[in-house]
Amino acid sequence: MRLTPEQAEFASAVKEFAETEIKPVIGDHYERGAFPVDLVRDLGKLGVFGVTLPEEYGGADAGLLMLCLALEEISRVDASVAVTVEAAVTLGAESIAKFGTPEQRQRWLPRLAAGEGVCAFALTEPSGGTDAGRTDTRARLDGDQWVIDGAKCFITNAGTPMTDLIVATAATGPDEVSCIAVEPGTPGLEVGPEYSKVGWRASDTRPVYFDGCRVPAENLVGRRGRGYAQFLQLLEAGRVAVAAMGAGTAQGCLDESLAHAQEREAFGKPIAANQSIAFMLADMRLRAHTARLAYRDAAEKADRGEDFGTDAAIAKLYAAQAAVDCARDATQIFGGYGFMNETPVARAWRDCKILEIGEGTNEVQRMLIARSLGVLLKLQQVHCHPGSVLAGSGTGQYRRDAPETSH
Ligand SMILES: Cc1cc2nc3c(=O)[nH]c(=O)nc-3n(C[C@H](O)[C@H](O)[C@H](O)COP(=O)(O)OP(=O)(O)OC[C@H]3O[C@@H](n4cnc5c(N)ncnc54)[C@H](O)[C@@H]3O)c2cc1C
Repeated sequence: MRLTPEQAEFASAVKEFAETEIKPVIGDHYERGAFPVDLVRDLGKLGVFGVTLPEEYGGADAGLLMLCLALEEISRVDASVAVTVEAAVTLGAESIAKFGTPEQRQRWLPRLAAGEGVCAFALTEPSGGTDAGRTDTRARLDGDQWVIDGAKCFITNAGTPMTDLIVATAATGPDEVSCIAVEPGTPGLEVGPEYSKVGWRASDTRPVYFDGCRVPAENLVGRRGRGYAQFLQLLEAGRVAVAAMGAGTAQGCLDESLAHAQEREAFGKPIAANQSIAFMLADMRLRAHTARLAYRDAAEKADRGEDFGTDAAIAKLYAAQAAVDCARDATQIFGGYGFMNETPVARAWRDCKILEIGEGTNEVQRMLIARSLGVLLKLQQVHCHPGSVLAGSGTGQYRRDAPETSH
C-alpha cells in the first residue's frame, strides 16, 4: 500500500517527534501517572489534532488514514499519548465536526483542531460498556435547558488541564438516546479522581457524574434521539484508529526487540542467532505488517466513503491481538529486563491489553464480523436490548456528507 507524498511526509514528521520528544521523557510521566500537557500541545502544533477536522476551523480535512498514520507512529513509542489523541479526535472533536451545528463547530473546533484543548466522549456507564445502547444517564428539557443526571465511567480526557468539553450520551426519552455537550466547570458536573491504571498511565481516565447538571438546550449535539446512530458511527472510525495504535505497538515491540536481540549475547553469540528468538522476531514482523495493512485498508475505505464497519472490526481485532502477542514475545526476548518498568517493552506489555477491551471488546468485534457473515442475527435479536451496540453497527460511512450527519 503506497502512501501519498503528503501522507509519508506527515508520518515521518510525527515519527521524528515521537523519537526525539516523546521517547526521552514519557517514562517519567508514565510512572507518575502524569498527563503530558507540553507534549500534547506540541502535537497540536504539529497538526495532529486537526488532521481529520474541517479546514474552515483550522483542521486539514486530510482523512482518517492520515490520522491513523500519526497514531501508529506515536504508539510505536508510547500508547498513552496516542490514546489521548485518539479519544480527543475520533470520538470527541469528530462528534462536533460531524453532528454539531455551525455555532457549535465555530465555538469549539478551532481550539480542538489546534490541540489547545481536548474533548472527551462519555458513553460508558458503570452498568456496562458493551451493551452501549442501555443508557441510564437521563437528560430532560426544562425550559431552555437540559438537566442531566447519571454517571459515566472510564472516560479518557475527562479531567486533563486541557479539557474543553465532554460530549455525553444520555437518554432523552423512552428508547431515545442523544448526545449533549457539557463544559468543565458547569454546576452539577463532577469529574472524579484519576483511576490508578495498569497501563496507559500518562493518559487521563476518570469517572464523570451529573447531578442536576444544567446546560443550554442548544448544547444538544446532532438530532435529538439520533445519539445511538451517531456514536456507532464515531466508534467505527475509532476502531480503525485503535487498530493503528495496535500496529504501532506491535512495530515498537519489534524495533526494541530486534535491537536488543542483536546486541545481547548468551553462550558467546547474539541471542538473535538462536532460531527460537529469530522466529519470534519473524512473527512480530508478520503481525505488525498485517495489522498495518488491515487498518490502512479500513481507513482508505472510510476515506473513500465506502462501508468499512466490518473492515474496522477485523482491523481492530487483529491489531489488538497482534499488539498483545508482540508485547508478550518482546518481554520474553528482553528476559528479566523486560520485567522492569523502565524498559519500553514493559510499558507496551502494560498498555496492550486495553486494546482488546476499549472501543468494543474482542468479543464485540467477533460478533460484528460474524454478523457480516449473516450469522448470530437471531441471538442478538433475542438477547440484546433493541438499542444494543451488538444489535447493529454504524452507517458504515465516515465522510462528513454521510446521511447521519445532517443536524
Ligand atoms: C483506560 C480506558 C479508557 C476508556 N476510555 C473511554 C472513553 O473515553 N469513553 C467511553 O465511553 N468509554 C471508555 N472506556 C470504556 C470501554 O469502552 C469499556 O470498558 C468497554 O467498552 C467494555 O465495557 P465494560 O468495561 O463495561 O465491560 P462489560 O461490558 O461489562 O463486558 C465484560 C466482558 O463481557 C463480555 N461481554 C459482554 N456482553 C457480551 C456478549 N453479549 N457476548 C459475549 N461477551 C460479552 C465483554 O466482551 C467483556 O469481555 C475506557 C476504558 C478504559 C479501561
